[in-house]
Parts: sequence; C-alpha cells; structure tokens
Amino acid sequence: LSDRLTSTFKNLRTKGRLSEADIDATVREIRRALLDADVAVPVVREFTASVRERALSAEVSGALNPAQQVVKIVNDELVGILGGESRSLNLAKTPPTVIMLAGLQGAGKTTLAGKLALDLKGRGHTPILVAADLQRPNAVTQLQVVGERAGVPVHAPHPGNQGAETDEVVGDPVGVARDGVATARAREHDVVIVDTAGRLGVDELLMQQAADIREAISPDEVLFVIDAMIGQDAVTTAQAFLEGVDFTGVVLSKLDGDARGGAALSVAKVTGRPILFASTGEKLTEFEAFHPDRMASRILDMGDVLTLIEQAERTFDAQEAEKMAAKVASGEDFTLADFLVQMQQMKKMGSMKKMLGMLPGMGQMRDAIENFDEREVDRIEAIINSMTPGERENPRVINGSRRARIAKGSGVRTSDVNQLLERFTQAQKMMRQMGKGGGMPGMPGMPA
Ligand code: GDP
Ligand code: MG
Repeated sequence: LSDRLTSTFKNLRTKGRLSEADIDATVREIRRALLDADVAVPVVREFTASVRERALSAEVSGALNPAQQVVKIVNDELVGILGGESRSLNLAKTPPTVIMLAGLQGAGKTTLAGKLALDLKGRGHTPILVAADLQRPNAVTQLQVVGERAGVPVHAPHPGNQGAETDEVVGDPVGVARDGVATARAREHDVVIVDTAGRLGVDELLMQQAADIREAISPDEVLFVIDAMIGQDAVTTAQAFLEGVDFTGVVLSKLDGDARGGAALSVAKVTGRPILFASTGEKLTEFEAFHPDRMASRILDMGDVLTLIEQAERTFDAQEAEKMAAKVASGEDFTLADFLVQMQQMKKMGSMKKMLGMLPGMGQMRDAIENFDEREVDRIEAIINSMTPGERENPRVINGSRRARIAKGSGVRTSDVNQLLERFTQAQKMMRQMGKGGGMPGMPGMPA
C-alpha cells in the first residue's frame, strides 16, 4: 500500500506543477490507502474531497516538489482531524479528579485503569481504582490484580455482589461507583478512576448503566476506550457511546498490534473528541500520550518521509528565499554576501545528504547536493571573510596583490580566490539576467 503511494508520488515528481488529473490520480491512491488502513468509508469520502480541494488551490512552496506538496497536504489534514496538538488529562480544580472509563468488553478498559493509575502515581498523584464492572465474572478480581501491580488501592464491592454473566444488571454498579468516589474524597485520593462494564456489542442496558454511573459521579473526564483493531465498526461504536454516554476523550488501545490506525481517524472525525492516549501492550507501562502527527504517518505508512519534508522546508529558510527573490526581482546587485548565504544554504542541505537519499522525488536538487562538497563552503566562507567590506561590496577592485593578500589571510591558494571570484561573477550575471525578467541568460533587450 505504501508502495503504491510512493509510486504515485514518483509519477508526479517529474511534472512541474500539479494538474487536476494528477491530483485526481493521487487522491484515488490516498482513498485506497485510507480504506486499507480501515478508515470508515464516509470519513474517507469527506477526507479525500477536502484534500483534493486544498491541492487544487495549493500555494507552491519553494522547498517542495509537487508530489511532496500533496503528501504535506494529506498529512496536515490528517493531523488536523486527529486533533493537532496532543492534549492531556483535565484535572479537577478541587480534587478528586474523577475519571470514568467506558467502552465495549475487551476494549482494554481495566488494563487502561492500571496504566493510568501507574502513570499518575509516577507524577506524584495518589490515585484509587473503583471496580464498577460487576457484570463479568472476575472483573473485580482482575481490577484488584491490576491495582496491586500498579501499587494503588482498589475500591471494590462486597464479594458475592458480582459476576454472573447474565443479561440482567448484576449488583449495584452505580452505588459502587458513587461509594468509590466518596471513599476517594474521604481518604484524600486526588484521582479516582472508575472502571465500568462493557458488552461485546453495543446494547441499551450497557449504555443505560454507563449513563447512570456518569450521572451519579459527574466525572471530569469520560474516556472512551476503543480497540484499534475494530476497523470499520469504529464509527458505529463511537457514535453509540457518544449518544448513549457521551465522552470527553478517546483512548486507542492495542496499537501494538498491526492495526494501521484507521479507527483513530474515524473516531476523531465522527465524534470530534480528542484522542488522549495510546495503549500499546498488555504491560502497565505500555502506554503513552497520543501523537496526532505520528498517527498520521502510521495511517499513511510513510514513516520518516514526512519528517524529512519538514526538515527540507526548514532548511530552505523561507525568509532567505524571499529576500533573495525580492533582490532578484528588483534587479539589485547580487553581492558576495548574498553568494555566501546561498552557499551556506547548500551546506545545510548537504548535511542532510544521506537523508535526502531516502526521499522519493528529490530529483534535481538531490543531484546538485550529491555533488556538493561541504568543505568548499568553509573555504568560500574563509575567503570572503578575509576581504575588506569594500572588496565584498565591489569585487572589481580585487586586483592581483589584493588576491594574494586574501589568499594568505584565508589560508588558500591564489588560484582558489580566482576561482571563487569567477564563480561569483557568473552567478551575478545570471542573477542580473533573471532580475531583468528575461528568465534565461543570453536574451538581451528584454524589458525590465
Ligand atoms: P476491558 O474488557 O475493556 O476491561 O478490557 P481488558 O482491559 O480486560 O483487556 C482485554 C484484553 O486485551 C486483555 O487480555 C488485555 O491484556 C488485552 N489488552 C488490553 N490493552 C491492550 C493493549 O494495549 N495491547 C495489547 N496487546 N493487549 C491489550
Ligand atoms: Mg474490564
């Protein structure tokens, strides 16, 4: 799949600018990539439509070729939908902070309860777990084991009041949740994490119970835990929980599996709720803040490519480029100082030589950089630094004896100074031609 995307981008890279047909071909591939990642169909449809629109009206960025620009647009849109910046837990101004977990059976709620507790404990909090899943046999015991491993206390109902695997509500989960929060307050725990029951499928009894618990304990956060492997069902499940219980944030579990994360995009897009955490294993430490940008790359399966594009953009240094363009446009003289800036930019790119090799479609720029000797820039820098300001401003005054002095001052041979001045004169000539609006050198008489 990523191969397919890469080859589409490769097809694009030889073209100067994106045509509508190019964009449509790319968008088709992106649609396929998203469906392969199990993003829900309606989400895919909306997403590709907005990418297409943005690509059609995209501003041309100097640092990127058209294919990279499409990748960037796709990535930006993905990151945007996934929540932009990652957000952390909302803690109550007056403790305890009450966190309720909701989701289908097997989603990873009980495991997450332990992970959150351990993480919070590590940050100096004093969490307590509340076992309000009375539905499944052993659910309470499971939470007690998790609590023990995390080293945090667990508020549990009396034994006998739990675990029967029936369609009826077992025990009094709402009462247990309420008691749990009261216990936390009395014992001065600053965070309460309430584990709740789930069903294999969405059903009304489960929804009602979760809604009742929410009503009873007014949580600061209701975290909807969803298995990343759930695929196309993500949308219906998330919508059901949104309507039935409502939630303030999402936790994506089992991201250690080979799920491509399409569920993340579906849930974020359909519910508009932020994804707070990613659960990445059965161990309590396998848990991390959710990073929209990393998930975007995972969905597109493009790995480091996006990082490289960012670096290329940064290195290009938009400001310098703009200054240079303004200078060229005004026909103002291109000086040795400008020449040095150009060289230094090449050097910055040169240190990325190896990384650029990984990028599909760097084309011409890559070749130029491959042949570029970084030490050359140091030499040029030394030579220019050995000139007086006047010489830098007006290199024509640099006669034979000045050349010898400059060479001595910068530790190079006089022939190196000659070579530099020659290269500079050529560059200056080219700049002047471009500044006159001729575009190509050797076309005198073009209007300025
Ligand atoms: P609950 O029914 O929502 O409480 O789900 P559990 O916490 O009991 O988890 C169900 C199963 O998934 C258990 O076997 C967990 O060990 C496993 N599990 C939970 N979270 C993860 C995860 O992030 N990665 C993996 N690989 N397994 C997980
Ligand atoms: Mg559970």
